[in-house]
Amino acid sequence: MSSALPSYEEAAALVAGHAIRLLRSRPAIERVSLSSAAGRVLAEPLCADRDQPPFARSTRDGFACRAAEASAHTPLRLAGATHAGQAPAGPLPKGSVWEIMTGAPVPTGANAVMMLEHADVAGGKVRLLPSRKLKKGENIVAQGAQAHAGDELLSAGTAIHSAQIALAAACGHASLKVFVRPCAAILATGDELVPIESEPAPGQIRNSNAPMLATMVAAAGGEPWVLPTVADNEAALDQALAQAAEADLLIFSGGVSAGKFDLVEPALLRAGARFHFTGVRIQPGKPLVFGELPVRNARTVQNKKGAKCFFGLPGNPVSSAVTFLLFAAPVLAALAGSHESVPRFALARLSKATDKHSKPGLTRFLPAACTFGAAGELPEVALVSWQGSGDIAAMARSNCFLVVPEETSTLEAGAIVRILLH
Ligand code: AMP
Ligand code: MG
Repeated sequence: MSSALPSYEEAAALVAGHAIRLLRSRPAIERVSLSSAAGRVLAEPLCADRDQPPFARSTRDGFACRAAEASAHTPLRLAGATHAGQAPAGPLPKGSVWEIMTGAPVPTGANAVMMLEHADVAGGKVRLLPSRKLKKGENIVAQGAQAHAGDELLSAGTAIHSAQIALAAACGHASLKVFVRPCAAILATGDELVPIESEPAPGQIRNSNAPMLATMVAAAGGEPWVLPTVADNEAALDQALAQAAEADLLIFSGGVSAGKFDLVEPALLRAGARFHFTGVRIQPGKPLVFGELPVRNARTVQNKKGAKCFFGLPGNPVSSAVTFLLFAAPVLAALAGSHESVPRFALARLSKATDKHSKPGLTRFLPAACTFGAAGELPEVALVSWQGSGDIAAMARSNCFLVVPEETSTLEAGAIVRILLH
């Protein structure tokens, strides 16, 4: 009975509760070179090894000077020059300026930099243009303005992307301590599935979920472990489950609906599973299963509570993608030790009204294309036409899912709506 199923919000809160618990059981740590640290999670705080900037730095090409002297518009003598990479010079003699380049250390005694474009240079003398004034500190970033030596700049649990790599490099870290990635076993079930390389016989399809989910696992901070496709029979499922027991998280695709060959739940039960929910009031993805298995030996992450999570994602590719993003990604992020906020929702303006929907009671996640860019405007989102949750081509034309709340039958053009980014 769908009314007995949790709503999206209830299921998400339940999963978030488990994610918080998992985040507390810290994963093992390894050291990786900075060049392979992208997508990993910091296992220790990142600290500044010296002040940032390490010296008072000019942000312009021009003339280091005293703001009061320059603003009097008298010609000032050119006393010297410093370019980027040279040691700080000075002190700056009274009544003079010092030629300086962007990124160069400002000589002691100077308190502003006159931009080259604002200077009148003649006969070895430099004068600020009469239309200009200079304030103390202008075009200079003071030493330590961004960080002081020893400051904690990033905390453990920060996901490492390009900006964090830049910071680590600036602070002299050629390698970083990161959490070991949680291993997520991907078990695609279905008698109809053949590998990508095979020519499907009549009635067969290629297993597209396994490579999709592997990509999603990696993006969520996990190490994907794609197992061979599992046939729709008890023996194959039991064997696959036993093999996958080493992983830190188990992700099944297919076999969780109410059909005669939907045998994943019974197999999980035989392995001692405890189910947190077996269905959520969402579309697509309603048959989603979430629970825990008793731990035997996790490969990488120690789960001290003695249980490991599993998800049974419905096999339709759009259902698999939506349920992974909504529920499996936060659990993986927690297992990876990351406190990055997932899933990523945003607001956008709907460009065209949605069709009336006659079946309320399910939060819907519809493939949509969002364009970003117009200054001062919300992103604009439009539905992608699709033929249901098996429509991989439609999903591939989308970059987000439009969220239609449970009780909403239609969303009007111009409405501010929620989107789930993928
Ligand atoms: P199921 O959830 O097993 O009932 O499958 C629902 C639909 O998704 C069926 O049309 C399946 O053929 C399809 N499907 C299941 N697994 C996959 C997969 N790994 N790749 C692509 N399609 C799949
Ligand atoms: Mg199936």
